[in-house]
Amino acid sequence: MTYHFGTYVAGSWQRRGGSDFVTVNPASPGEIVGVYDATDAVALDAVFASARRAQAEWRDVPGIRRQAILEDWLNAVEARCEDIALAITLEMGKTLADARGEILYALKEARFTIGEASRAIGEVMPSARPGLRNMTLRRPRGVVVAATPWNYPVLTPLRKLAPAFAHGNAVILKPSETAPASACLMAEIADAYLPRGLFQIVLGGAAVGAALVSHAEADAVTFTGSVETGRRIYVAAAANLAEVQLELGGKNGIVVHDTEDLEACADEIVAGTLENGGQRCTSISRLIVRREIAADLERAITERMDAIVVGDGRDPAVGMGPMASAAHFERVHSMMARGAGEGARRATGEGQHQGGGFFLRPTLFADVRPEMFLAQQEVFGPVLSLISYDTVDEALAILNGVEFGLAAALFSNRLDVVQRFIAEAEAGMLHVNHQTGVDPNMPFVGVKNSGVGAASIGRSSIHFYTTEHSVYIKS
Ligand code: NAD
Repeated sequence: MTYHFGTYVAGSWQRRGGSDFVTVNPASPGEIVGVYDATDAVALDAVFASARRAQAEWRDVPGIRRQAILEDWLNAVEARCEDIALAITLEMGKTLADARGEILYALKEARFTIGEASRAIGEVMPSARPGLRNMTLRRPRGVVVAATPWNYPVLTPLRKLAPAFAHGNAVILKPSETAPASACLMAEIADAYLPRGLFQIVLGGAAVGAALVSHAEADAVTFTGSVETGRRIYVAAAANLAEVQLELGGKNGIVVHDTEDLEACADEIVAGTLENGGQRCTSISRLIVRREIAADLERAITERMDAIVVGDGRDPAVGMGPMASAAHFERVHSMMARGAGEGARRATGEGQHQGGGFFLRPTLFADVRPEMFLAQQEVFGPVLSLISYDTVDEALAILNGVEFGLAAALFSNRLDVVQRFIAEAEAGMLHVNHQTGVDPNMPFVGVKNSGVGAASIGRSSIHFYTTEHSVYIKS
């Protein structure tokens, strides 16, 4: 299977027949999966012009009708679930089961969010003066640009596309150059449902992304990815005073204070660490455990990690696929080596799985101290660092002692510990007695260096995807 896409502008693909960049199967890197034409700066102006035209019509489509059109598009995406799942697995390696799960989950979220198109968009306010009727209303922002990463190549774009369209905007999406095929397939499917130019795609790496987010015609910029890129995008958007939403990395910790069922707790921790090969912004990466139970938990987690079959995500027996790219494999591998060099003890896992792909074994480092590199930096791989503590104060200080604030979890049945956790844990998403998995109707949000701007999903999206207006009507 080879995908071939270029810029998607005004409902047609600009394929020059070139191959500015290719994608490979990370489970067998000799296999080319996608051949792509990158977007050049001149083409970008035409993409913005077409988005502007499409948005001018779409904003006048009644919200309830917009919702129905979007529902039809989402149904058509679901009908192509198998094709899209295969594209995800071939380009970034996750198992086919996980790829299907990603699509179906993304659709649940999107269906919830598009309901915003038919919900209230303003308030009636008391007037300070006689004879006036006051209200607030919201209008679409206009042309929204989006840049997304490779780890959830359907979920992350849809988390932006669904609210943007529901609120009456056009979107220009730059999917990750590591795994663009699935987003291109969603755009291809949209052709039969959405007005031409409403959903367009530009392709390429950082240079194309930078040109997109700094374009003067971008009314709002939504980005998901690393902190480093997020900082650049914030600066670029500031030059145009464009509204910004940044969803960035995490160094998510789970505090295990007490549990009645250590085995079930270990199941949750391993699932939360290894889903998508640990290439998940909400992955558990630090296990902050009370010293009395640390050895038992280390044993239970090691057993589970050792039982996981690593291999090609197309094989149904495989529980965890490869790292998504050669560069990412090298990054994670070198972080593991640096952690071992700092004195962390490798309780299980190995540097490199056998075979040609970018495989790593699930890895648990024990005896990690909070100030170590492994305990501070986002690894974005199948690596868990175990840190022991003695007091609740110490546990919270370790949990909060990182630059990130995306997700945090606690295992405890003690109400005082739970109360402190939900009041003091510095994270946008807080989980008690389960791992860091989320629901499709809850705001998705980070604090500290994990995010800037409005939360995603559902009601919160109105703050980013619309502008607020005050209206005074005198009869
Ligand atoms: P990345 O920051 O390298 O790239 C993300 C996207 O931005 C890609 O499309 C890339 O081409 C583009 N880009 C790169 N430089 C750019 C620039 N200067 N201007 C505009 N666009 C630019 O991230 P990645 O390696 O693809 O993804 C992994 C990161 O994403 C991790 O840090 C992870 O935590 C984060 N992430 C966060 C969330 C969240 O919701 N908080 C979700 C998933 C992933």
